[in-house]
Amino acid sequence: SEGHGARFTDVDGHSYSDFNIADLSMFCGYAPVPVVRAVAECMARGNQFLLPNEDAIVVSEELGRRYGLPKWQYTLSATQANIEVLRVARVVTGRDKLLVFDGKYHGHFDQALVEPGADGRLVAEERGLPRDVTSHTVVVPFNDDATLARALRRGDIAVVLTEPALTNNFGLILPEPGFHSCLRQLCFETGTLLALDETHTQVVGPGGLIRQWSLEPDFVTTGKSIAGGVPFGAWGMTDNIARHLNQEKGPDGERTNLVATGGTLFANALSMAAARATMLEVLTPAAYANTQQLGARLADGMSVAVKKTGLPWHIHHLGPRSGYTFREKPVRNADEARACQDPLLARLIRVWLANRGVWEAIVGAGPVVPVPATVADVDAYLVAWQELLETLTAG
Ligand code: PMP
Repeated sequence: SEGHGARFTDVDGHSYSDFNIADLSMFCGYAPVPVVRAVAECMARGNQFLLPNEDAIVVSEELGRRYGLPKWQYTLSATQANIEVLRVARVVTGRDKLLVFDGKYHGHFDQALVEPGADGRLVAEERGLPRDVTSHTVVVPFNDDATLARALRRGDIAVVLTEPALTNNFGLILPEPGFHSCLRQLCFETGTLLALDETHTQVVGPGGLIRQWSLEPDFVTTGKSIAGGVPFGAWGMTDNIARHLNQEKGPDGERTNLVATGGTLFANALSMAAARATMLEVLTPAAYANTQQLGARLADGMSVAVKKTGLPWHIHHLGPRSGYTFREKPVRNADEARACQDPLLARLIRVWLANRGVWEAIVGAGPVVPVPATVADVDAYLVAWQELLETLTAG
């Protein structure tokens, strides 16, 4: 029924300490004061003009500082940002296809909803997609330089879209040393554009993993928590790519050369006010530092409990994020992750925690420490976790 800070209350009056925070979209916590104020003030002044306003300049400059890309465009979600990037990448490269990694999630759009089937051939992940949906996308394993090189050298991929580390479906798949530099190099060599999706990984700090790992994408996409959970998506690009968005005038004075991007409410004043307040007043370096510290406390505590009970599990850790894999070593790709999945156990963990006032909405995703969380919240998670592991291994 309502949420404040790191906690929410359900309609029966139960209160939860939230470690999934609406699939990270509320990483800033529920009802962050600066965002509530900025949104209310914006509504009172008029929230949409079909024209950019001054907040868009501030937001673009701040995103540019964080992610190192000079030009930005806006949507209402990360999904839409990824769709726009694919369109523009087609224009820039003259190619059609998207390459994504097995185990990815980039939103519900056709080209990103295919995966390898049992025989390795691509299949549609869900219903409602066109029959030829698999012909527009190539899916390769993460952390596999040779397969990636073969796919890119065919010369028909417009853009590679990936998270810097895969955070969806299987907890966490980290890149092996050298994988990102190989990816960057292969994209250069083959004239393929590289888009990094920081929608989830931005929780590690200002500029996300791109800044932390000194990555150099051609596009960045983001959304969710970067505007405090108010509908907002953004995609950044190089100056060179931005040139392709310039409209030209035909001989009759009509604009031509339009790229299929945009939407009536994109870059509306309300979303911009929320993004400005979030980045400048909530997602500050100090806030990130605090979540890093609490994230380490959580991951360490989870690891200690696993070791104590002797379960053959791996606890991963990335900034405020941790999680559990039901095998001793971290997984390198989606196949390895699928092989150690235990959906019933993952659901049991979620329910176990929920019954103790700890919320993990996405089964198996693992906990993320939100900005307003305290040591007490983290320790409450650890108490429930320890008790769970002891119960699982008792007798
Ligand atoms: N990219 C990534 C990496 C995501 O995790 C998600 C959502 N889980 C999206 C894009 C899509 O975000 P939205 O549903 O807000 O458009």
